[in-house]
Amino acid sequence: MPPVFPGAVFTPSADDGFIDDGVQVSLWDDDLPAISRLDPELLAAMRAAEARAADDGIRLGVTSGWRSAAYQQWLLDDRIASVGEETARAYVATPEQSRHVSGDAIDIGPVDAQYWLISYGSEFGICQTYGNEPWHFELATTPGSECPPMRTDANG
Ligand SMILES: [Zn+2]
Repeated sequence: MPPVFPGAVFTPSADDGFIDDGVQVSLWDDDLPAISRLDPELLAAMRAAEARAADDGIRLGVTSGWRSAAYQQWLLDDRIASVGEETARAYVATPEQSRHVSGDAIDIGPVDAQYWLISYGSEFGICQTYGNEPWHFELATTPGSECPPMRTDANG
């Protein structure tokens, strides 16, 4: 059941950066705010990584990029409703804290693409930043340097 906000039921749309469950979009889908509102440096680094991944036969699909604050709140409320507050907060940041809302984070699939990016992303400055989210990446190091230690989860 979607959460109810004062005066209206919010339903996230493409304008909020919404990408449906099970859908992967391209790093080149500039018509989608989920892609076009990402930090330009992160997007450029991801596109460079994608070109290298393609040489290894790996396709980097985007399952989530930039999100509006309302969409992030909706995700958090929805998760709290389904799994409870403690578990939800380990995976879904508040709109104020979320690196997706600021355009500084991207979620990647499928699993072989995640594994590739965890292995080679640092060459492009891209790092997994939460230990419990192998799909979530941010620009977090100088290209060619090691990634910083991961935070345990979105709550830590
Ligand atoms: Zn993420």
